[in-house]
Amino acid sequence: MTETRPGGEPGTDALQHPHTPGMRTGTDPAGPPQDVIVAPPHIPVRDERTREFVEQWRNAAYNCYSSGHKFCREVCPVMQVTRNESWTPTAFHANVVAMEKGELDIADIAADYVNCTQCGACELRCPNTLFTGDFYRFRTRTVDVVKAVRALAVDSGVHQPGWRRWNLLTDERTHEPVLGETPVDQEHVRDWAEGLDLPIGGETVLFVDCEAAFYRTAVPRAVAQILKAAGVEFGLMSEQWCCGGPAAEMGYVEQAERFARHNLADWRSVGAKRVLVLDPHDYITFTEDYPKYFGDDYDIEVVLVVELLAQLIREGRLTPEVPVERTITYHDPCRLNKRKGIWQEPREILRAIPGLVFNDVDRVTQWSYCSGGGGGLPVEKPELTAAISANRLDKAAALEVDTLVSACPWSERPLSEAGDGRDIDVVDIHELLAESLGIAVGGSRGEVGDRRGGGCGGGTCGGGSCGGGADVRGPGEEEDQ
Ligand code: SF4
Ligand code: SF4
Repeated sequence: MTETRPGGEPGTDALQHPHTPGMRTGTDPAGPPQDVIVAPPHIPVRDERTREFVEQWRNAAYNCYSSGHKFCREVCPVMQVTRNESWTPTAFHANVVAMEKGELDIADIAADYVNCTQCGACELRCPNTLFTGDFYRFRTRTVDVVKAVRALAVDSGVHQPGWRRWNLLTDERTHEPVLGETPVDQEHVRDWAEGLDLPIGGETVLFVDCEAAFYRTAVPRAVAQILKAAGVEFGLMSEQWCCGGPAAEMGYVEQAERFARHNLADWRSVGAKRVLVLDPHDYITFTEDYPKYFGDDYDIEVVLVVELLAQLIREGRLTPEVPVERTITYHDPCRLNKRKGIWQEPREILRAIPGLVFNDVDRVTQWSYCSGGGGGLPVEKPELTAAISANRLDKAAALEVDTLVSACPWSERPLSEAGDGRDIDVVDIHELLAESLGIAVGGSRGEVGDRRGGGCGGGTCGGGSCGGGADVRGPGEEEDQ
């Protein structure tokens, strides 16, 4: 095999002497010939933090950048509603490559990385990850890359205003500022359990996310009463703080770790060996972030309530008997199905409830639609969250249902508001099961009502969307900027 190289001799064996454009050879002492492509000069990364960051993430970024086929785009909920190429997984990786080359720095790109719900859909769709075969021996890690860029931004003093206020208030209150005027603080974190006679501590404790503890109190009340009915023994934490997961997602890593250390110490102080979790966001935090923080020192078993309930039904310890006359479909929370592969158990529970007509999605379950409620998006971009939820409700409406069932308290506000215009009620799976078990739950659904009977219909929480309705004012600030 022969070839003629620019500036080279005909007859050279290309396999023995492969030609690399721009590469000097011993045969061209005068320098590269005119038609050779010369790489742009490499600009060294001067900032120490950025240098460490690109060192850590360059392989992950090149793994995507060198493929660049953008299979991920069409499953990305942000891309679906914006069509903005700067907010795609591809761009998120390519920026890291450009940072490595010294062509961009964190201040140039930090705001783009707000536009991600951390749903994980792109990772599932990416051929580099597909479960059918890991042929690049490398999993695409968009969720982690986005988190790491956000952390680099905060570390470098580049803040998003809403996220900064949110995390300042979370730090001040030890819980996320989920409601405007409702007291969100340590003193009120167990108010949801009033009258349920739950002990503090024990081998098993129940952790309730901030949204459910202060706003959707009917959800933890349903969970607690169902577990008691099945004879499961559990208690509450002595002093529960926010799990820290949202802070970590927004880049406030020091705060997230501080909260995690507090919660782990509290579990140990009450003798807990096991934590029950009803919120998918907490579940991700406790099963992915905490093990990274604590390593082998993390000796707590984490149990997802939905999985436990499905098991209790299977074992005959719970038997839903009261018919619930609704035509439903199920909203897979991204952090359960796409990130953890948990989609069967919620369906098992729903199929055990008599009276329900269940119109399940007719597409591969793991690629189901996002609510837009995760990754801090509602705090910075409530209008995007609302558009993503509207998209999700369109899919539900096509199935001709009157109810969308979710297993994630954080998805309910945006989904409910989107449900208003389509006459679709959004309910929580734990509450639905409690209803079928004949349990009068009590507590609050926030401002979300049953719109099938012309109820309040939600959508009046003041801010127009989840997070947007929350009081995220910083100390001393008169109103949101
Ligand atoms: S994330 Fe995966 S699918 Fe998307 S462009 Fe990169 S390599 Fe392709
Ligand atoms: S994690 Fe979800 S929102 Fe973020 S880039 Fe991937 S598909 Fe888009």
